[in-house]
Amino acid sequence: MFNFILFGPPGSGKGTQSIKIAEKYGFAHISTGDIFRKNIREKTELGLKVQGIIEKGELVPDELLIEILEDAMDQYPNVSGFVFDGFPRTTQQAHDLDMMLNKREESVSLVLALEVNDDEILTRLLKRAELEGRKDDTKEVIENRISIYNDQTQPLIEFYTEKGKFKSVEGIGGIDDIFKSICEIIDQHK
Ligand code: AMP
Repeated sequence: MFNFILFGPPGSGKGTQSIKIAEKYGFAHISTGDIFRKNIREKTELGLKVQGIIEKGELVPDELLIEILEDAMDQYPNVSGFVFDGFPRTTQQAHDLDMMLNKREESVSLVLALEVNDDEILTRLLKRAELEGRKDDTKEVIENRISIYNDQTQPLIEFYTEKGKFKSVEGIGGIDDIFKSICEIIDQHK
């Protein structure tokens, strides 16, 4: 089982690239952000619980994540791998993921970061705000999300580097060129 984490700040292109990776390799794409947005649209109990948090650009509490992730994985019993998009986002989540995969006699195979600087991210997310009207894409909320990423998510780089699982690629350029660089790295690790 190839357990692949696509890592990077909000707006780095994780969603776009994850879909392409999942399609090419036959992996299941699991985006925790998409799961939350679906629950918000459908006004489920979880949706109502997380709506305010997400609209402010804050992180949903760690203890809610692992169960959601495990449920999502269980929907794909026959895949050869997963692309995790937007998870883990804190060191606690990374530990929880290790434990959960361990229980399944699995482990994280590779963490690949899309490198995009803060200025480019702000520009991209403001553009997405116009196009998609996501409630968490206003300037104030975007800045909050970038700062939360820097404080809480970036430390994961060290966590996975120490395990020898961390790689990165340039996340600025054409979608297909970036995809090609990602595939080269996946192919070296499969
Ligand atoms: P995304 O689409 O990945 O940018 O996620 C949108 C929002 O969902 C984030 O800003 C968080 O509020 C929430 N979210 C998604 N994934 C996680 C996670 N792994 N941990 C905490 N909150 C999350």
